[in-house]
Amino acid sequence: MASPLELQAMRRAIALSAHGLGSTSPNPPVGCVILDAAGRPVGEGYHARKGEAHAEGNALLAAGPAAKGGTAVVTLEPCNHVGRAPACRQLLIDAGISRVVVALLDPTSRGDGGVNDLRKAGVSVETDVLADEALLALDQWRTALRQGRPVLTWVYTQTSSGLTGALDHVPESRHLLLTADAVLHADGRLEEAVPNSHGPDVVHLPSNPLQLGTDELLKALYSGGVRRLLIDGGEDLAAAFLADALIGHIVAYIPEQGPSASSRSAGQLEMVPVGFHLTDICRVAGHIVIGAARWLHGTPGQP
Ligand SMILES: [Zn+2]
Repeated sequence: MASPLELQAMRRAIALSAHGLGSTSPNPPVGCVILDAAGRPVGEGYHARKGEAHAEGNALLAAGPAAKGGTAVVTLEPCNHVGRAPACRQLLIDAGISRVVVALLDPTSRGDGGVNDLRKAGVSVETDVLADEALLALDQWRTALRQGRPVLTWVYTQTSSGLTGALDHVPESRHLLLTADAVLHADGRLEEAVPNSHGPDVVHLPSNPLQLGTDELLKALYSGGVRRLLIDGGEDLAAAFLADALIGHIVAYIPEQGPSASSRSAGQLEMVPVGFHLTDICRVAGHIVIGAARWLHGTPGQP
């Protein structure tokens, strides 16, 4: 069973993993903390982008010889394949790590991931430690992998003439770009959410996005490495994606209104489309922010 110190280290690793949101795709955002043999934190790291060192490698580099006999606390199962970076399970073994604490098993490892080989090498391994909390950073990567297409978030604000994209109208919404890979604008422009955040060999964006069907577009984006796509526009832009039930999340910026009582017509009531439920609500300057997610198994109370 994970110790209280290991749980603290895992929450630190989860926070570290979030540094990679919006830049590691198609790789997952992962964080790692190394505790020495006495349980003291001696190194930490995260994966920043494809082609660069993995979280475990960075954390071991920071820990140096203090890692020997220590524990590696990592949000995703250490990798077992030799790619551009050496397999992390081997780095951990070579560093003399004696225990590895993992939040989430790698869904791509099919039971043949780093955990097996670590155990064979005599390393004590514990899995499923704070897995639900690690999913706060890893879930969209995992969902995109399962679906074979990016996870789509529709972002909009309400104006007197209807819905429109939020990114150009509500400055507070622009932080959403930091955790996305690409953004589709209402005029059909498609670009990296943070320009040049993925390196030159990731995120190949179609030059004619609106001439492709939604299916073709999402396949092209996925093969280019995009795992999180923002749809920033009104109903016209979102319609085709909504019709095919492709939008997973909504972030709506609803302008605050002056009077505490006002008349309203039925047509103005809809906050989010049918098929979605509210997941969170907060305020930013001048706006109520509504978060919503698609019901995964049909809409309760609706056919
Ligand atoms: Zn790795």
